[in-house]
Amino acid sequence: MAVGDHVVGSLLRFCGTCAVCRDGRTYQCPNTDATQRNAGEPPRLSRDGQPVTPVFGTAAFAEYTIVHESQLARVPEALPFPQGVGLGCGLGLGGAIGSLLGGQLSDRWSNRNAFIWIPVIGSVLAFPFYAIVLLWPSAGAALIFLIVPVAAKSLWYGPVYAAVQRLNQPRSRATALAIFLFILNAFGLGAGPLLIGLLSDALARTLGSAEGLRWALIILSGVSLLSAACFYAARERSSEPDETFR
Ligand SMILES: [Zn+2]
Repeated sequence: MAVGDHVVGSLLRFCGTCAVCRDGRTYQCPNTDATQRNAGEPPRLSRDGQPVTPVFGTAAFAEYTIVHESQLARVPEALPFPQGVGLGCGLGLGGAIGSLLGGQLSDRWSNRNAFIWIPVIGSVLAFPFYAIVLLWPSAGAALIFLIVPVAAKSLWYGPVYAAVQRLNQPRSRATALAIFLFILNAFGLGAGPLLIGLLSDALARTLGSAEGLRWALIILSGVSLLSAACFYAARERSSEPDETFR
């Protein structure tokens, strides 16, 4: 890390000197307190004479902050700041729009099996829209349009979380939600980035690194079609009468 590097901050931090860190497992560092100021030591930032403490040790929304070096990941200079901001806005705004819209529409049309059809439609639409974004020649326009596939992909949150509750008896709802979250995190968030990385590296050998990553993202975004098929397969089950819901 050098002065002037473009970076993004992270909540994760590590000391870099303990046995676990030196073994390369910095994510398991038991010594993260060593990266923070000592107890009783005042914050190093102040405003109008008042001490300012960074929220969660990052203060991600502040214009100035002090963080430990281990919390910073270098961003390539090839990604200029405006595009970086566009990426953040596209993901955040698209996710907010899709989540709220999916929840609202599901509640409004709950008697028409909206809990299944909204996730099916969102998952089917997400794939071609992601492909359009990833193949768009201009980065600026692509990042604005990114709101569309991200919103489509986020439509399922409200209806699916509601359906998990609705399809289970009250005595087993917490367990059902726990199983659902385990699968979502272990297979989705766990395997997704790994598969994209492996596919990207494999494709890079013939297409080059940038095109390899582009096509890995396009191919893996097709997994949303598999999600759509799974939601569709669940349509019979979701229309069963449910006394506990009424
Ligand atoms: Zn450590």
